[in-house]
Amino acid sequence: MDFAVVDYDQFMTQEILFDKSIVPLAIVDSHRVIRKVNKRFLDIFGYNEDEVIGKQTSIITPSYEKFYEYKKYFDRTKSGEIKTRELQYKKKDGTLFWVKLTGVPIILNEEEHILWSFEDVNYEVEVREKIEEQKRELEAIFDKVKTGLVYIVEGKIKKANSFFTKIIDKSKEEILNKKIEDILPSFSLEMHKYNITFEKSDQIVLHIEIEITQVGKESYIIIFDDISEHINEKKQLQYLSETDELTGLYNRRAFIKVLQKMISNHNRNFLSLAILDIDHFKKINDNFGHNIGDEVLIEFAKFLRNQLRENEIIGRLGGEEFGIVLPVKKDLAYKICERLRTKLNNQLFSSKGLKISASIGLVDNQRINKFEDLYKIADQCLYNAKKQGRNRTVFKD
Ligand code: GH3
Ligand code: MG
Ligand code: MG
Repeated sequence: MDFAVVDYDQFMTQEILFDKSIVPLAIVDSHRVIRKVNKRFLDIFGYNEDEVIGKQTSIITPSYEKFYEYKKYFDRTKSGEIKTRELQYKKKDGTLFWVKLTGVPIILNEEEHILWSFEDVNYEVEVREKIEEQKRELEAIFDKVKTGLVYIVEGKIKKANSFFTKIIDKSKEEILNKKIEDILPSFSLEMHKYNITFEKSDQIVLHIEIEITQVGKESYIIIFDDISEHINEKKQLQYLSETDELTGLYNRRAFIKVLQKMISNHNRNFLSLAILDIDHFKKINDNFGHNIGDEVLIEFAKFLRNQLRENEIIGRLGGEEFGIVLPVKKDLAYKICERLRTKLNNQLFSSKGLKISASIGLVDNQRINKFEDLYKIADQCLYNAKKQGRNRTVFKD
């Protein structure tokens, strides 16, 4: 134990220093009775000297309970175990304020005393608490928003919120300090805003919108928005707007759109347009009813899909009329159409086992490159096929 041994006379010569100190000082005996204070102490606490000398330090502790609680600091200071502490004290007017309390054990008149200095750190403590509070608030916002948020420093994940961990189905421990590319392979810091897909599990593919904001030299905040529902709804709507309800093929509008696109995009590639119309279809409805007519249409659509390749576009143009786009010149397209027609003649349709035939009008884009002309000519060829006795393919030379 290191006591500063000071005799009374020596102390008196130092009194002027004590009194002039800009730090509030108090000398307290082992019963925690205030024996001496300096001017600064009186200024800060708002007391006169008479009001504090000979009083217990309980007059400056926030409450009587605190007086007892603070005793441990007194004892530990006396034993030299600790030197400084941040504690709250009370001024005469009742204002509480934070103090950095430093205690030095001294022997005065052969008795143990403590020289306390009370450095006012109220401002610092309040600022610190405010910062802590703001940090807690930000933390809460960071974690509660319904958007994935990730904070990256030098390429590694330093922070991620609950929404993000939920999106990727991993715990925070699993991803902290990892590279984000190891978790989301298609991630890149190069772009500012883009979409990626992420396979969460075998069945679930997520569509995620990513927005990157650089916040420091090597730090970034990344926003992850799960837009899967939106994308799926959009796809569903697109599917509905493009699909013929009865047969599941492209509807007229979608078929024409695809055909127009193919004509303008691939005007150097050959394509043929075939328009098929089931012969005497009205009779099926008349003889067997509309439901059987529908069955025939559904099976006819399946027949076309099975007979044709993936890159051969099929659509229902209306009623019992269908369109096919074949990516070949009309000579080969004619062969495909005739094979199709022959197969059709040898197949039975619907629960009634009906035989059907179709007439086909065919044209290619070798000399015609306007969609309207192509369509008109294919339709004329179909008309001619009907006129020439049906169940045949007619093409434009
Ligand atoms: P053609 O050989 O000249 O083509 O004779 P067709 O009877 O096939 O032609 P028409 O245009 O006279 O009749 C087509 C019929 O197709 C009339 C219509 O009721 C029927 N139809 C159109 N759409 C549907 C449908 O969605 N379901 C059913 N069951 N019938 C339909
Ligand atoms: Mg018909
Ligand atoms: Mg028709």
